[in-house]
Amino acid sequence: VLSGCGSKDDKLTLGTNAAFPPFEFTTTNGVVGNYDGIDICIGKEIAGSMNKELQVEDMEFDGLIAAVKSGKVDMAVAGMTITEERQQSVDFSDTYYTASQVIITKADNTDINSAEDLKNNKTVGVVLGYTGDSIVTEDLAIDDSKITRANRGIDIVQDVKNGKLDAVVIDKATGVALAQKEGLKFVEDPEVFETEEYAIAVRKDNKELLDQINKVLAEMKESGKIDELSKKYNQE
Ligand code: GLN
Repeated sequence: VLSGCGSKDDKLTLGTNAAFPPFEFTTTNGVVGNYDGIDICIGKEIAGSMNKELQVEDMEFDGLIAAVKSGKVDMAVAGMTITEERQQSVDFSDTYYTASQVIITKADNTDINSAEDLKNNKTVGVVLGYTGDSIVTEDLAIDDSKITRANRGIDIVQDVKNGKLDAVVIDKATGVALAQKEGLKFVEDPEVFETEEYAIAVRKDNKELLDQINKVLAEMKESGKIDELSKKYNQE
């Protein structure tokens, strides 16, 4: 592998919001600097397949699509769900993970057992620009005065713990990981929270990179590596 010349062409930049375990989070000694998680490993494989060094750009989730569009980052690998709205701005790779939303609430909570229950005068936290935000805002049509929008899932889950919020709606793997860590519980409601497919976003004209990403994803699926990563990081 030829690397280390330091010119920009030797780098592949991955945009993400590193507050979304097990897909991306910060830790001492991550796989790339302080960054670790399923998406970071996938990004590293893609960069490696191109003989490039992976560079992680940590930013607010809500700014990722614009960063891909403007070329500030080469790709967004951020547990990002394919949506029609996003597809108008970026191209998505093949999918690599199936997810859904869950509700996080206090372990001793008895009156939140479904998404419908959130409409019952509950204060709900979501991450700004996440699919959970649009489900709570548009599908459930919860009153805006009851919704808190934050930039990091970690922070609103803390607010559930300290009683500032009744519930948080967030992606399942992340929600379960954070709930376990904080001694909270999660509630599923598959009728309201439909399945979502995660994929990697690239700039619309970047077919070369998209093809390369799809090739690596196909290899990682076939070799069982994606499953392995998901098992490894979901246990941590
Ligand atoms: N899957 C959700 C979305 O795409 C959340 C992704 C994330 O937080 N990184 O909106």
